[in-house]
This record gives sequence, structure tokens and C-alpha cells, in this order.
Amino acid sequence: MREHDRLFIGGGWAAPAGTGVIDVVSPHTEEVVGRVPDGTEADMDRAVQAARLAFDNGPWPRMTPAERAAVLGRLSAVYAERQQEMADLITEEMGSPILFSIFGQAALPQMVLQYYADLAADFTWEDERPGMLGPVTVTREPVGVVAAIYPWNVPQFTLMLKLAPALVAGCTVVAKPSPEAPLDAYLLAEWAREAGVPDGVLNFVPAGREVGAYLVSHPGVDKVAFTGSTAAGRSIGEACGRLLRPATLELGGKSAAIVLEDADLGTTIEGFKMASLMNNGEACAAQTRILAPRSRYDEIADALGEMVSALTVGDPADYATEIGPLVARRQQDRVENYIRIGQDEGAKIIAGGLDRPHDRGWYVAPTVFADVSNDMRIAREEIFGPVLTLIPYETEDDAVRIANDSDYGLGGSVWTADVAHGVEVARRIRTGSCGVNLYVLDPNTPFGGYKDSGLGRELGPEGLTAYLEHKAIPRPH
Ligand code: NAD
Repeated sequence: MREHDRLFIGGGWAAPAGTGVIDVVSPHTEEVVGRVPDGTEADMDRAVQAARLAFDNGPWPRMTPAERAAVLGRLSAVYAERQQEMADLITEEMGSPILFSIFGQAALPQMVLQYYADLAADFTWEDERPGMLGPVTVTREPVGVVAAIYPWNVPQFTLMLKLAPALVAGCTVVAKPSPEAPLDAYLLAEWAREAGVPDGVLNFVPAGREVGAYLVSHPGVDKVAFTGSTAAGRSIGEACGRLLRPATLELGGKSAAIVLEDADLGTTIEGFKMASLMNNGEACAAQTRILAPRSRYDEIADALGEMVSALTVGDPADYATEIGPLVARRQQDRVENYIRIGQDEGAKIIAGGLDRPHDRGWYVAPTVFADVSNDMRIAREEIFGPVLTLIPYETEDDAVRIANDSDYGLGGSVWTADVAHGVEVARRIRTGSCGVNLYVLDPNTPFGGYKDSGLGRELGPEGLTAYLEHKAIPRPH
């Protein structure tokens, strides 16, 4: 049992203003495994004040990028050394299979941190341009106090997409973990202290959505960075619009994997284990619409059904597990409800279904629907669980049209023996990323969404620009 009765504010452990607590429940055992304070508006006030003070008067924004990068480098070194601890903890709090956790919940966030620490040396922080009346210095300054609000599915990764560029830019941060997965923030706070992140530069207040909304509109905040559902992103975007406050929004997805006529069946189906089912399907970029050519539809359906039926579903801490439990009973209900909707819509279950693989824990059998048309709700709405839809197409143009016929535009992939042709097809897909014969998020390339999948980009130099204001200083010859 991991019990925390403090909040990380101003570089130390502060007593919360209220008495409410958040119980963290293991999705595998359904038992309470941790407890943290349930942050209140008064706690947010204090955290914003600490971040404000550190930004307005503290050393952090005044240090050189290289000096800040050195601190990030130290944090990255601690992270690299202790990442197994992080992977185990996140698996315990939200049910990610340990093999995925080691990579996606721990190694990847550390790589993002290291990437931004390294980028500081190459990034153009200032340049000189010839102006009409004389030279102009164009400088990049930190945007200020950042509110970072992130979800439970990949908590350290979605946090690090914000934290690492914000910190290297010279911003200070108030981070709000989700109530489902707040424990990993405590580990990171300890590491930040060890690495010498100055007081007030990083603050954590776990809390629910109302207190999150309070943070978004707080007068002491200069920028909001959010990962989560499209519904929440819309309301945060509205609030930021009223305030003219910059916001980066990484939202939901319903990405398509296009299997072309010439795709190798074995590698394609194996690739879906990661591209479509990573993290129990609780991944915004999961490719849950699989588009198969009519000529190969039955063959692909058989292979996909077989692969998904053979997945090992169980204790997420077990290294043999491929699919763990969903984060909460609420999520189990939601995913099972979509399986019922798919049945009612006339789609055919070819793997999984409503029989639960285990009595205890919030498990749902990984499920594949065949005979799906793109207008069904199971093809249009984000399910956020291990449920795939297999949609037939007639021609390649038809496949591109179906892939783009979505409110979302986050990820995607093309599977083909002809990689150059795959790249041409990927160019036609209206999403922020589209892989060929794989799907991966690289720290040095931008990630984000078109349409209802969000605004702005994280990762890469683009992700750093989101935490900078550009200032021009012209002067006479
Ligand atoms: P959610 O939107 O309910 O919550 C996400 C976070 O925002 C939580 O910390 C929550 O407390 C907070 N929150 C919710 N409403 C808020 C509001 N109005 N104001 C301020 N804070 C608010 O999402 P969830 O169910 O926790 O997470 C799953 C969703 O996240 C999925 O839709 C998924 O697609 C999305 N997601 C997107 C990405 C991406 O990069 N595009 C990555 C991971 C998850």
C-alpha cells in the first residue's frame, strides 16, 4: 500500500488544504493499492502561486538553456536508472501489461526527457535577421506558467510530452495527474528533487475534473497543455479561447490501419498487436479500424480472429501477459457496452465477446468485429479498449476515403510490400501521423491530431515551440 498524505508544491511536501482522499484501486485485484490527497481549488491556488513565484522571480527562466538541459539530463539519468520501478508502479495502478509498461510507461518518457535535454544544444533560441531599418534580433522566451493536465492511460508519457519541453524552455509547471493514476507522479517528484529541479518549477496536485477546470482558467496560468478526451478538450479549448490563453490539446482517435492487396499477412497481423492493441487498447492512437481489401477479406478476418483469440489475458504484472485489465469498472462497462452496440448494429464477433476472461479484475476479452461498415458507431466512436473493427474496401481510393471518413485524425498505418507506395498512401491520410508497416512515436518527430483529435503538436522541435513566445527586437543600423 502506497500512502501519500502530502502534495508536491514549491519544492517540498505540503499538507493539502482539504481532507478528501483518492483511493487508487488495482484493476487486477480490485483492492486499494494507494492513497493520495484529493486536491482542491485552494491547493491549486498554492501550486499556481509557487509556479508563478518560480517563474517571475526564481532562477529557472533566467538560466541558459544549457544550464536547464543539465538539470534535465540529471533527471533523465535518475529516470534511466530507476525506470523498472516506474514500470512496476504504473502496471499496478492502471493495469498496463508489464512488458508494455517497461517500454511505453517508463523507457519512452525517459527518452523524451533525454531528447529535450539534448535538443537544447541544437535549438535556435535566438537569431539575427536583416530588417527594413536595421537588424532584428528574434528571441524565444518561455511562455510562463504551464498547466499540464493528463490522463491515466500513459501517465508518464503524456506528462513528459509537456513537462520536458516546458522545462527546457524555462517554464514552470503545475501538473494535474488523473484520479485513476496519480501514484507515479510521486515517484517523479522525488526524482526531480534528487536531480536539483529548483523549488516551485514543478508542482503536482492530483484532483478530479472540476479542480482541473479551475486550474485551466486560473489567472496565474499562461498556457494549458492537455491530453484526454475530445469532450474535455473541447471545454478546455472554449475556456482558453475566452481567455486568449494558448492551449495544446491532444485528444481522442479512431485511427485506421489500411491493409493493401500486397501486404504480407504474417507481419501485418503481428504488427497489429502493437499498433492496434497496445496498452490493452487504451491508447489514443490505437488503430482500431482495420481496412481490408474485399479480395483478401476472409483470409485477413481468419488470421486476425485467430491472433486476437490467442492473446494471453491476465495479471498485468506477469511477463507472459499481452492484455491486462481495463483501468476501472467504469471502463469495463463502457467497453462491454460498445460490444453490445456492435452486436445490435449487426456486426459479427469473430473473436472475444462479452464472456469475461476472469471473474475478478476489470477484464474484457479482446474482441474483433467483422462485417463492419464505417457508419456504425463501433467504427466512429472511440471505444478505448481491446475492440477492433474489420471493414472491407473495394479499391485503394475507397480505402483512403474510408480512413478519412472520421471525426478524428490522430494516427494510422498502411501495410504493404511496396514501402514507397505505402508512403504515398500515408500522405493522403488526414492524420497527424501515419506509419508504413509499423506504428511508432519517435521523440524527435511531431505527434498530434487533425480534426477532433486536437490542436497543436507535441514531440520534436515543434513540441518545444509550443512553450515559447517569439519576440522581435528591431534597431537602427
Ligand atoms: P478525460 O478527458 O476524462 O480526462 C483526462 C484528464 O483531464 C484527467 O486528468 C481529468 O481529471 C482531466 N479533466 C477532465 N475534464 C476536464 C476539464 N473539463 N477541465 C480540466 N481537466 C479535466 O480522459 P480520460 O478518460 O482520463 O482519458 C482517456 C482519453 O484520453 C481518451 O479519449 C484518449 O483518446 C485520450 N488520450 C489522448 C491522447 C493523445 O495524445 N491524443 C493520449 C492519451 C489519451
